[in-house]
Amino acid sequence: MAAVDCSLPLSVNYQEKVRPFIDLVDELRANGLDRDVSLPSVVVIGDQSAGKSSTLEAISGVQLPRGSGIVTRCPLELRLKKSQKKDVPWKGCIRYVKKKKDVRFDVDEPGNVGDAVKKAQNDLAGTTNGISDSLITLDVESPDIPDLTLIDLPGIARIAAEGQPTDIGQQIKDLISKYIQKKDTIILAVVPCNVDIATTEALQMAQEVDADGSRTLGVLTKPDLIDPGTERGVLQILNNEKYKLRKGYTIIKCRGQMDIEKGMSLEEAMDKEQSYFKSHEHFKSVYKEKKAGVRTLAGRLSTELVGQIKNSIPSLKEDVKTKLAATRQDLQLMGIGVPQEPDRKMLFLTDLLRHFIDDMQKTAKGELTRVRLTKMKRTSKHLFGDVRDAFKRLATAMNKMMPVSTNHSMLEEIKNAIVESRGRELPRFMCYPVCEAIIREHLQKFREPASACLQEVSEMVESVSTALSTAHFQAFQGLDWEIKGKMNELRMKHEKMAGEAVDQIFAMEHLVFTQDSIFIKTVTEMEKKRNKVAHPQPFAFHATQLQSGFSQPAQTSTTEVPIYHGANESPKTDEEKEAEKMLMYICSYFKVAIRRMVDLVPMAISLHLLNNLTEDITSQVNLMAAYPDQTLKLLEEDPDSAERRAMLEEKLKRLMKANQDLARFN
Ligand code: GDP
Ligand code: MG
Repeated sequence: MAAVDCSLPLSVNYQEKVRPFIDLVDELRANGLDRDVSLPSVVVIGDQSAGKSSTLEAISGVQLPRGSGIVTRCPLELRLKKSQKKDVPWKGCIRYVKKKKDVRFDVDEPGNVGDAVKKAQNDLAGTTNGISDSLITLDVESPDIPDLTLIDLPGIARIAAEGQPTDIGQQIKDLISKYIQKKDTIILAVVPCNVDIATTEALQMAQEVDADGSRTLGVLTKPDLIDPGTERGVLQILNNEKYKLRKGYTIIKCRGQMDIEKGMSLEEAMDKEQSYFKSHEHFKSVYKEKKAGVRTLAGRLSTELVGQIKNSIPSLKEDVKTKLAATRQDLQLMGIGVPQEPDRKMLFLTDLLRHFIDDMQKTAKGELTRVRLTKMKRTSKHLFGDVRDAFKRLATAMNKMMPVSTNHSMLEEIKNAIVESRGRELPRFMCYPVCEAIIREHLQKFREPASACLQEVSEMVESVSTALSTAHFQAFQGLDWEIKGKMNELRMKHEKMAGEAVDQIFAMEHLVFTQDSIFIKTVTEMEKKRNKVAHPQPFAFHATQLQSGFSQPAQTSTTEVPIYHGANESPKTDEEKEAEKMLMYICSYFKVAIRRMVDLVPMAISLHLLNNLTEDITSQVNLMAAYPDQTLKLLEEDPDSAERRAMLEEKLKRLMKANQDLARFN
């Protein structure tokens, strides 16, 4: 393998390994893919006059705009391409997009790049000192440069110059943040040796987005301007003992103002730099350790960038695939556009409506829809599943309200009611009206969860049906609104009907009735037990009396035995005993009633808000299809849609190309 060719200042001798990766990302970026996904890049940041342009010039071999104030006013993408053959002439080209139009012009020699960039900047950001975030791309091809793509950003200015907006500093910071935030970006932070590194904004900004410095490369400039005696501090930074960055620092020396005025060429400067470091009392060691020199820096950058690209390829592929699928779907949903011939237009409309109805029915049945409902608020996209969960919650809530025989407050309540109702009946006769009243009162509490469930389901239906309409009719606002309006009307109607059905269930529960066999068995056993201990009192339970075969009120007995208590306890009053007994009956009854309600309430809600509503929507929409004169008017595509379709088609092309480009890498 050939050694680095020193006659050419910056030959980085691994084109084969480097070029394809850089080409890939350049290609993707040129394709506009950075609008869709984040692409790996090297971004140069630094405070004003830190030496950014000088660094870039040294790496690229081209003369960049110079001057005081903010010289770089647009992001400048420098795409350096090392030509394979040594005798090809230098080539330069500037490109940018203005008002959606491509502008490009060639630059004939490296020395004219500065003026060409200025011209492009004036075109994009105006001739005053404003900035713009439109990207200017500068392609350079030469045998003397590394394979590398870098993005130069405006320097961080502390004070606005004359004629500049007062918030220029913030504008620049925002622009820089936008670039360096991206996790795939390598940050090249340029910091002069002759200032206190801790005070530089560039490093602070880098640290904000990359706290451990895992993607920040430090560049120390102007070593020749260092205050004698402070070299140790610079060496500490270079050895990563201070202001640590995982990727470390490189020190470089560029042309000073004097050198430029004297007309020193970049090649000459590079040679000078090499001998400067080689013989420098303090820096020769770091030069040997490959931490100094523009050439070293360029090589490292290439390697870092390629490494980053390699790392990013799997996720790039993934991103592109996802976006591709989404774009295809969006386009599909926009339709191919409305056909003009009446017959086909009609067919188009019926298809459109049919697909919508299809999805409406599918969601109500818990099947997968043909459209993705990405814009939906709910995390779950399946109405059916959501509704089932709501029903489960209702069941849990109702079951939690099941009275238990150990509930003291309820026992107290029953006892008081018994005492209050004491009237003409003989003591120890269980009082059925009290029992019924207690049951009815407790039943009322179940209305709250039932209504809440109904409301919840209605909202679910609304959000899903609205989302479905949006997804299907996004290109036809008139139709979308019409259908949403109709659906809303119908949903309200069915919500009301479901409410009435739930009311009816409660009205029926108010009857207090059961012929549930488990209940009857429980009560029969209780009766038998009571008869054994010869309890005197008849239990008149309306529901059970209705049921033939159930025991008739027991006969009066003379013996008195406490039934539900241990022998040690103090004797209970008649009311207490009766209350305990009644609570047990009530508990058994509620087991039955709750079992009924947790089924019946959801059934009523489903019947109206899922089945009947869907049926109603279906026939309404079918009606719209049957009277097409009115409906076809709603099919006018809004003007934004045509533009959106064009935009989506372009995006699709872009992503398909990217997908192809990426497929070559694994
Ligand atoms: P930018 O504002 O960050 O782009 O900084 P420039 O690259 O324009 O540099 C600012 C000034 O510092 C210019 O006059 C450069 O010539 C000078 N400069 C840059 N690097 C060096 C260096 O290594 N040594 C010396 N002496 N001057 C330098
Ligand atoms: Mg500059």
